[in-house]
Amino acid sequence: MADTLREITCPACDAKMAKIYMEEAGVNVDVCLDGCGGILFNNRELEKFDEQHENADEIFKAYEGKTFNPVEQSEVRLCTVCNTPMVKQGAGVGNIQIDVCNTCGAKFLDHGELEKIRKLKDKDLKYRAKVDSLVDAVVAENQMPISGGIGSFAQKHIKTTPFRAAFENFVYNYLENK
Ligand SMILES: [Zn+2]
Ligand SMILES: [Zn+2]
Repeated sequence: MADTLREITCPACDAKMAKIYMEEAGVNVDVCLDGCGGILFNNRELEKFDEQHENADEIFKAYEGKTFNPVEQSEVRLCTVCNTPMVKQGAGVGNIQIDVCNTCGAKFLDHGELEKIRKLKDKDLKYRAKVDSLVDAVVAENQMPISGGIGSFAQKHIKTTPFRAAFENFVYNYLENK
């Protein structure tokens, strides 16, 4: 468990991070207000802010009127809480690559990623049941003998992950934009 009161530097740009007290969750998060705009969450803190209904106003208020320096997102970052190299991990239903420290549990998000994760998670919660039942219906339908054409293609590929992921994406986008 990381020390939330110690002043730490940003894993992406080395600027000193500002402590922001999140009233509702009762925790401090470190935000790179004078550098890249990244956010460092200590162990399990991100879970308190990754859904739209969870209050993250203090962070977004602190961002107001500021511009942030771009950083190279693909490079390996060093956890500034415990000095361990961080690893890239999917967040926001796997679509956003964030930096995670497997030693202390810290998670670093580049500027803008928190907003994206909150939106994706919301969309997922809203549509997951719908998408699952649609996929199941298509799978069930295609277990019937079909000779040739799109039916046999679906029969062959629908249970493989990339096909399902593509189908889910299609359904998400359809339901979001209709
Ligand atoms: Zn920074
Ligand atoms: Zn760490």
